[in-house]
Amino acid sequence: MVHGEGGVRFQNWARTYGSSPEMYFQPTTVDEIKEILALARQKNKKVKVVGGGHSPSDIACIEDFMIQMAKMNKVLKVDKEKKQVTVEAGILLSHLNVELSNHGLALPILGAVLDVAAAGVIGTGTHNTGFSHGILATQVVAMTLLTASGEILECSKTVNPELFQAACVHLGCLGILLTVTFQCVAEFYLQETTFPSTLKEVLDNLESHLKKSEYFRFLWFPHSENVSIIYQDHTNKPPSSSANWFWDYAIGYYLLEFLLWISTFLPFLVSWINHFFFWLLFTGKVENVNVSYKIFNYECRFKQHVQDWAIPIEKTKDALLELKGILEANPKMVAHYPVEVRFTQGDDFFLSPCFQRNSCYINIIMYRPIHAPVRILRRCTQIFRSSVAFGRN
Ligand SMILES: Cc1cc2nc3c(=O)[nH]c(=O)nc-3n(C[C@H](O)[C@H](O)[C@H](O)COP(=O)(O)OP(=O)(O)OC[C@H]3O[C@@H](n4cnc5c(N)ncnc54)[C@H](O)[C@@H]3O)c2cc1C
Repeated sequence: MVHGEGGVRFQNWARTYGSSPEMYFQPTTVDEIKEILALARQKNKKVKVVGGGHSPSDIACIEDFMIQMAKMNKVLKVDKEKKQVTVEAGILLSHLNVELSNHGLALPILGAVLDVAAAGVIGTGTHNTGFSHGILATQVVAMTLLTASGEILECSKTVNPELFQAACVHLGCLGILLTVTFQCVAEFYLQETTFPSTLKEVLDNLESHLKKSEYFRFLWFPHSENVSIIYQDHTNKPPSSSANWFWDYAIGYYLLEFLLWISTFLPFLVSWINHFFFWLLFTGKVENVNVSYKIFNYECRFKQHVQDWAIPIEKTKDALLELKGILEANPKMVAHYPVEVRFTQGDDFFLSPCFQRNSCYINIIMYRPIHAPVRILRRCTQIFRSSVAFGRN
């Protein structure tokens, strides 16, 4: 008999949204999940599942029954010949990457954070960057779902193909994802090269940057022309890492946090902070080589409000210049660094932000100590909606 806990408070990673489910479950088997669903049907309760709890929105919040999948985290099968792995859907990518590495395998693309569950990243259309790569769900070859009525459904491109197209970005509302089979590649190393540029240069030469690097993205420092370009490409070089004294000794963390706190009272400082940190950390060329998942992983040190807009790739320049123009015309409207710009290949998943079109993702953040962020985020909503965007925040 499965036991649920009362009185648990759920909060997402950034502590921007939370809920107090009446019952909180951590099942270890499919039968236990079936029991929870039967109880929910009997008591007329809604159920939500949570993975890593990293979604920056309230998408995983629920007041009725919450199922946390952390204990359903096993690797079920590794097919070395096909380079495919089948896992329980609660497995964290941090755990999966190590398991894959032990078998000489890797996922060809990952998001920036690894303490997220397989089902969670598939559910929200998590993406990274690279013109020849789709969102993470494009690496899925098959899934098993448990519906609210207790039925188990298999889906793939050939079995229940329509369900598969829907489940590849499921938003947590198609049932409970039990297992996922991923298509992997042979383990690989990436060289990351970071160098400074300007917004004008990168927007004028977008196509050339997209062709030059397999995983190209850039960071724009609002209230300035400053841009940091990041190329990530396959390499045979041995691992190496440029020392980062600033973050390694935690001094950078405390300095930035202190400055952000002061800028709550003096918002004009945000522009100065953006310039200062670009000058301090992003004006040189930096190279790192490591196994792919360590290069994809980008340690996010600050809790933040986030919007991540997917717009048609051809509208990248107009949308960013409009955002820049609005900031210039409204000196009281502030935006933190970095605005991260990434690119993703189109797919055919019904709810995907990249449905049948190549997309540019524009990610706008406001650090959480600041509670006046909403103005810029609201304004972004207007700009990017008019660019026929899909947003996730
Ligand atoms: C620091 C940070 C960095 C990030 N970087 C990126 C990035 O680079 N690219 C990007 O696209 N996104 C990024 N994100 C967003 C993140 O990848 C997504 O929000 C992702 O969904 C988080 O996975 P999770 O396991 O934490 O999901 P959760 O927040 O736990 O859940 C997300 C959704 O999946 C559902 N769900 C979870 N498990 C199941 C299941 N077993 N069955 C059915 N539904 C389920 C939940 O109900 C919810 O609807 C980042 C977030 C943070 C906080």
